[in-house]
Amino acid sequence: MATHRILVVEDEADILQLVTYNLAREGFEVVGAPSGEEGLDEARKGIYDLLLLDLMLPGINGLDVCRMLRREEATARLPIVMLTARGEDIDIVTGLELGADDYITKPFSPRVLTARIRAVLRRDKPSLEAAEQPFAIHEITIDPRRFHVVVAGQAVDLTATEFGVLHFLARRPGWVFTRTQIIEAVKGDDYPVTDRSVDVQIVGLRRKLGDAGVNIETVRGIGYRFKE
Ligand code: CA
Repeated sequence: MATHRILVVEDEADILQLVTYNLAREGFEVVGAPSGEEGLDEARKGIYDLLLLDLMLPGINGLDVCRMLRREEATARLPIVMLTARGEDIDIVTGLELGADDYITKPFSPRVLTARIRAVLRRDKPSLEAAEQPFAIHEITIDPRRFHVVVAGQAVDLTATEFGVLHFLARRPGWVFTRTQIIEAVKGDDYPVTDRSVDVQIVGLRRKLGDAGVNIETVRGIGYRFKE
């Protein structure tokens, strides 16, 4: 397996050192940048497989770094994992909507850090063609062409919106999506989003999925994810 190169943007020297040490020990090649400005310069080289990005940075903050990198061709698809402190839920939501792939809340264990990074590196955004193929996950079989869902051998009758939400989440197990991202994916970006409209869809879906409904997990303060 090729060595993955990870860029870590973090202004707190002790955290940068800890993260660098642990990732290097796991076989990753790690480069640290202590500010948003230096992180941007480094990321623009286009040589990294993943960016671990602290959100609270002096100068250009992490959300701005994320926004800028997503706009630039060389870094538009660079996987980004945000490092956040407790209570930064609004920033996490904003970051995910700007295109960050995942987040880790400080303090975190080295084991969680490497597991999350490996999970994001494994992720493959589904191609349009693959998105149309029937697939099964956790006893749920989803056929996108026929809008057909079977749970443990039983057909389940979903509304078009419920189907859209389930398909969107189940295609990307382990990914956390905000309510805005879910509704935009299902309804288009001109559809008015209220937290409640999304929550109502989720409640209906869980009920109809029965025991399999637990696979749709609530991520408090952020949104929803399908169990990995
Ligand atoms: Ca910081």
